[in-house]
Amino acid sequence: MIIVLLGPPGTGKGTQAAAVKTRFQVPHISTGDILRRNLAEGTPLGLKAKGYMEAGELVPDGLVLDLVAERLKEPDCSGGFLLVGFPRTSVQAEALDKLLAASASPIDHVVLLEVPDGTVVDRLSGRRVCKSCGAVWHATFNPPPAGMVCPKCSGDIYQRADDSSEAVLNRLQVYARQTGPLIGYYDAKGLIRRVDGSKSPQEVEAAIFASLA
Ligand SMILES: [Zn+2]
Repeated sequence: MIIVLLGPPGTGKGTQAAAVKTRFQVPHISTGDILRRNLAEGTPLGLKAKGYMEAGELVPDGLVLDLVAERLKEPDCSGGFLLVGFPRTSVQAEALDKLLAASASPIDHVVLLEVPDGTVVDRLSGRRVCKSCGAVWHATFNPPPAGMVCPKCSGDIYQRADDSSEAVLNRLQVYARQTGPLIGYYDAKGLIRRVDGSKSPQEVEAAIFASLA
């Protein structure tokens, strides 16, 4: 089974990806992981990517696709896989379809986690993180200690610049701009499974499994 998991930031994609991976016994393919591994191993594709990154540029679509193509050739992907965070654009989605056409196994489902913008802002702007160990709290749902000192490692607890309300709204706008056409592309193929991502993680997980049945 080949599954793509889509959703804006702050919708718990990581948690749900882990659940899908366990349930369907498919590897979780993340472009971030692939890139990190290629950089660490100094592969030819990794070295190319490094050139762009050192120049402060985005790794171009074509190179990302080459990296994904290499990863999908590995034996653990032969029975299917779960893609998270890729494709991000309809151009990437078309390129991925061409790649999969060569292996005669198309995408089965595109799960779209839907969460209202206001909920995403509440979730992310409330995040408080330990600078040293990365432990996470939430200003409303799981407040950090009053002194803002981490009880585990004594590090400072703070709000990442990325998590300010303005930054979150900006991230949501970028997401909407990029993925609007992507969702349209998959909708036209009848692949979109819409799941309400604003419920509890357990309810979201159950809804995802139901949508894949
Ligand atoms: Zn800490």
